[in-house]
Amino acid sequence: MPVQTIASTASVELGPAAALSCRECGERFDLGPIFACTSCFGPLEIAYELPQGDPEELRRRIEAGPESIWRYAPLLPVPADVAGKPNLNPGFTKLVKADNLARELGVTGELFVKDDSGNPTHSFKDRVVAIAVEAARAFGFTTLSCSSTGNLAGAVGAAAARAGLRSCVFIPHDLEQGKVVMAAVYGGELVGIEGNYDAVNRFCSELIGDPLGEGWGFVNVNLRPYYAEGSKTLAYEICEQLGWRLPDQIVIPIASGSQLTKIDKGLQELIALGLVEDRPYKIFGAQAEGCSPVSAAFKAGHDVVRPVKPDTIAKSLAIGNPADGPYVLDIARRTGGAVEDVTDEQIVDAIKLLARTEGIFAETAGGVTVGVTRKLIEAGVLDPSLTTVVLNTGDGLKTLDAVAPTTGPTATIRPSLDAFRDAGLAL
Ligand SMILES: *Cc1c(COP(=O)(O)O)cnc(C)c1O
Ligand SMILES: [Zn+2]
Repeated sequence: MPVQTIASTASVELGPAAALSCRECGERFDLGPIFACTSCFGPLEIAYELPQGDPEELRRRIEAGPESIWRYAPLLPVPADVAGKPNLNPGFTKLVKADNLARELGVTGELFVKDDSGNPTHSFKDRVVAIAVEAARAFGFTTLSCSSTGNLAGAVGAAAARAGLRSCVFIPHDLEQGKVVMAAVYGGELVGIEGNYDAVNRFCSELIGDPLGEGWGFVNVNLRPYYAEGSKTLAYEICEQLGWRLPDQIVIPIASGSQLTKIDKGLQELIALGLVEDRPYKIFGAQAEGCSPVSAAFKAGHDVVRPVKPDTIAKSLAIGNPADGPYVLDIARRTGGAVEDVTDEQIVDAIKLLARTEGIFAETAGGVTVGVTRKLIEAGVLDPSLTTVVLNTGDGLKTLDAVAPTTGPTATIRPSLDAFRDAGLAL
C-alpha cells in the first residue's frame, strides 16, 4: 500500500483523534494520510480519546455550540478551533416530523425525515468533506480531490473554494447535468472519466500511488478514515433533535456503506458517553435494485458482497463494489435490521410520495430510502408502531431527469376565465 507523508504527522492536532486503528486486526498507527493496514490491508479508522466525565456537562457544551456539525467537535477528528476556520459549516439540518407520510404508510408511531438536502451543496456529502478538509490542512495537502458519483464532487469543489485549496475532482463522464454543473461551478478542475464509478475509483487509487498524485488529498481514499467520521454527525443530530433519545429504527441509503457504518458508530459513542439511554435500535440499509450487491448478500445470508455492474437512476448510490459492504451486513444483522432494495419505478413513486405528503423534494437516494421504508412496512419487517427516522441525503433539483418524464403542468390554458372553467380546476 502506498504511504504518503507530506508534513510530519507527529505533531498533528486533530482534537480527540488519538490514532488510526485497523478494523480487522486492531493494529494502531500514528495519525497520517493512510487508509489501509500495513499488516493485513484492512481499512483504518479513527481511534479516539473521547471526553470523560459528566454527560450533563458535555450535553450542555454541545447545546451551546454552533448550529452546525461543529457543535460536536469534541467527538470529531478536528482541531478545537475548527468553527473559526473558513469552511462551509454544514449540518444541523432539519428533522421533519412526517405525519402526512406516516398516515400514507400506515405508520402509527412517530415518523421523521432527516432532510440533508439542506446542506450547503444540497447533499449529506458536505459533512464528510468538512472533516476531510481539516485532515488535508493538518497533513499539508495543497490539492483536494475525490472520485465521485456526483454529490461528492460538488461538495469538494465548494469546500476547497472556501478553504483556499486547489481542487481537482473525478467523475464518471455520464452523470446528471445538475451534478456536473454543481461540481464545475466552484471553479476547480473537473475531470470526466470514460467509465463508471468503480473505474473512476480505480484510477484515483493508481494516481495516489504515483508521483503525479503527490500533495493530493483524496477525501475518500487517502483521507477516508477522517472523511468517514463526518457521517457520525447524522447520528448525533438525530438523537439530539429527538431530545437526546435513540430512534427505534433508522433507514439509511447505501453507496459504499460508509455512512451507514459511521451512523452506527456515532450511536454507539452516544451510548458509551451516557448522552442517550442504552436501548436497542435497528439499522436498515436501502439500495436501488439496479445496484444492490449488499441487499443481495443480506438476503442470501452471505458475509461477502459480490460486486455488480450498476444500472439505476439512483446514480449517487451506484457503487457496484462497496468498500464497507461486509460491515453493513454485520450491523444490519447485529441490530436486527435488514437491507432491502427497490426498483427505479418505485424510487420515482417514492420521490413523488415524499414531495406530495411533506413538501420535501428528494433526489433519487431519498426515493430509495422512502421506497425501501414502504416496502419493509408492507413486508412486516419494519415495525410501524415505533419511532422511525428515514434519511433524505440529497436534493431533487440535482436529479430532475428522474421525475421530469412523469411530472409537469396539470393543464396549459389560454389566459381567460372561460378556459380556466373549462379545464375543471375550480372547486
Ligand atoms: C454518497 C451518498 C450517500 C452515501 O454514500 P456512502 O458511500 O454509503 O457513505 C448517500 N446519499 C447520497 C445522496 C450520496 O451522495
Ligand atoms: Zn490490520
